[in-house]
Amino acid sequence: AEEVGGGDKEVVREYFNNNGFQRWKKIYGDTDDVNKVQLDIRLGHSKTVENVMKMLTEEGSLQGVTVCDAGCGTGCLSIPLAKEGAIVSASDISASMVAEAQKQAQEELFKGKNDQSLAPVMPKFEVKDLESLDGKYDTVVCLDVMIHYPQSKADGMIAHLASLAENRLILSFAPKTFYYDLLKRIGELFPGPSKATRAYLHAEADVERALQKAGWKIKKRGLIATQFYFAKLIEAVPA
Ligand code: SAM
Repeated sequence: AEEVGGGDKEVVREYFNNNGFQRWKKIYGDTDDVNKVQLDIRLGHSKTVENVMKMLTEEGSLQGVTVCDAGCGTGCLSIPLAKEGAIVSASDISASMVAEAQKQAQEELFKGKNDQSLAPVMPKFEVKDLESLDGKYDTVVCLDVMIHYPQSKADGMIAHLASLAENRLILSFAPKTFYYDLLKRIGELFPGPSKATRAYLHAEADVERALQKAGWKIKKRGLIATQFYFAKLIEAVPA
């Protein structure tokens, strides 16, 4: 029933402006007040960010390259991208997330730096859902957001992101395999207090099909897995 009438999106927005914001700000931060599971997720997610930075920088300098970070959260990727000289457009459906990302970028990018010639460009942060993003970017990245999209909406989301990208589209998603599906089902039998939104796994074949339909093909694939964090990472290019 949550797929009817776009109700899912409102639930997700509400969650990431409130409880979800508090939970994920901690996980994506560097403070000690996290439990073992949260610490493990922090580690897994930071590996995803590292992998994306590696994928991007090994193809050439990011200096002056336009990047759209769709669903930017607290700016875990936007900030390192800006440090590499990318011109970043970062957006998220949650105003709380965007405000936090802005604050962290301000602190991390300009703290103690006097030499303006070396100053990175401050990312342009906006409160926007993916569907209302427009413009053209060299590279579009969307990390760990598809988990909030049922497969029926993921195709449209992928097609829209591809339409914004000129050269590269990088996506990460929780892979739907027999084992992870089972883990997730077990998890659903014992829902913790912070599990306020539904999580959707995606089969790699479904993602690949959606990319093909949009005229894109997969160039690189990666898998990041810790005990409690699983992400398939994909770089796609125009076919
Ligand atoms: N991409 C960031 C990262 O990897 O650090 C954040 C990942 S976090 C798990 C998911 C983010 O997606 C949240 O900040 C949430 O507000 C955002 N989000 C969920 N649905 C969205 C939508 N339809 N449009 C834009 N952002 C969305």
